[in-house]
Amino acid sequence: MTVHRNLIDGEWVGSEGVPNINPSDTRDVVGLYVHGSAEDARQAVAAAKVAFPKWSQSVLMERHAILRRASDLIAARKEELGRLLSREEGKPLAEGVGEVVRAAQIFDFFAGECLRPGGECLPSVRPGASVEVTREPIGVVGVITPWNFPIAIPAWKIAPALAYGNCVVFKPAELVPGSAWALVDILRQSGLPDGVLNLIMGRGADVGQALLDSPDLAGISFTGSTRVGARVAAASAPFQRKYQLEMGGKNPFVVLDDADLPVAVEAAVNSAFFSAGQRCTAASRLIVTDGIHDRFVAAVQDRMAGLAIGHALEDSTQIGPVVDEAQLGQDIRYVELGQQEGARLAHGGHRLDRETPGFYLQPALFTEATNAMTICQEEIFGPVAAVIRVRDYDEAIATANDTRFGLSAGIATTSLKYASHFKRNVQAGMVMVNLPTAGVDFHVPFGGRKSSSYGSREQGRYAAEFYTTVKTAYTHAG
Ligand code: NAD
Repeated sequence: MTVHRNLIDGEWVGSEGVPNINPSDTRDVVGLYVHGSAEDARQAVAAAKVAFPKWSQSVLMERHAILRRASDLIAARKEELGRLLSREEGKPLAEGVGEVVRAAQIFDFFAGECLRPGGECLPSVRPGASVEVTREPIGVVGVITPWNFPIAIPAWKIAPALAYGNCVVFKPAELVPGSAWALVDILRQSGLPDGVLNLIMGRGADVGQALLDSPDLAGISFTGSTRVGARVAAASAPFQRKYQLEMGGKNPFVVLDDADLPVAVEAAVNSAFFSAGQRCTAASRLIVTDGIHDRFVAAVQDRMAGLAIGHALEDSTQIGPVVDEAQLGQDIRYVELGQQEGARLAHGGHRLDRETPGFYLQPALFTEATNAMTICQEEIFGPVAAVIRVRDYDEAIATANDTRFGLSAGIATTSLKYASHFKRNVQAGMVMVNLPTAGVDFHVPFGGRKSSSYGSREQGRYAAEFYTTVKTAYTHAG
């Protein structure tokens, strides 16, 4: 089996590959991928540092052409890459292909951004002088990503980093090196000069930590757990380094008495259980007012009974396995804890056997939960949701906001008054009305507040905030 190696300064390096296991069928080895060392990470940073002066001064058309080619190559291979992604992560094939298409769209968007540099030229307050305000790349950026969106999250960090003239050292999650490797290979084929993008696969404790400890990184863009995010912050402070953190969520989905029931049920089931609940924007707290509560719960249970859970590559599958044994164990422990805390397990929550050995879990729904329960306060990151019954809208929004997280929030209502109030007052970076809490556009900002996010927003034109620094230049005509 081919060993997929790390990329340092345009050279593929490393020899021994670690098996990448398919969570739908643990007998299936997706491929062998090298685990780099801390020393590899340091060499990658050094190579990126050498490449930076030239790349940061490269002409706009060069960057545009490379990103455009990458977008085309990704799109042309969407079926193959979608299959690879679903095989290594476990999301259904249609979602895997959709995520690959999303990566192509992101590269297309940022190819366009290469040709739309901003800036201001304005008169000075002093006679005879003028002022220019421009943006410059920040330098070498460390990109550290989680396993749940193996190509989209790397794309939405790497594309703007390169578009604005930065060099990158990319450290993907251990569980999903395949999509990361393919993306880097495509960028190399697209004509990216040596050293501009380096890939070091491997363990967070080795490769990730070496990036955190590097004085030569001008910025780190991190998506992952709140625990590791805190380490990124602490490690960056002594270097006065820029960092951006996208972390956990405990997202609420509010259902009001006046909601259109099928719309509410579809959005809630999608938010809570699709992608096996392994989305940072998944809703795990379904906050439902008295008048619709029983009808809503019955309809959600009906819908859940019809969900097809199985191998990610089977056409009929709607929900694949969870990502690995450790995640499955964590999900099941929370299901047990919810029962101990006094919530009623109304549906699912047990391991499922399928024809192939994998990490299959029947999505779980709790009712009679209270917001103070651990299952309503801690991120589970699996297909587990709890229904919290509330009196009215006021109690619903107070409950929605009673969390340390603030990534995404949703509401199902036909009332303009409540929808408007919710959009204005819910403490979240993204708000959805009559839509699932997960599922976002690529041309607008993505991110949250409170313990969910730190730093400037990702995606769309807001990405420039992180990947550039502003320069103010004064000129006197002399
Ligand atoms: P994780 O924090 O365990 O790992 C994320 C990345 O950090 C991985 O590449 C890992 O190898 C690396 N890492 C681990 N230890 C490190 C260290 N000491 N130094 C540097 N890097 C280190 O998260 P995960 O399990 O891969 O992903 C799940 C988490 O990601 C969930 O909490 C989820 O909410 C979050 N997530 C957030 C968003 C968002 O945009 N807010 C999106 C997707 C996932």
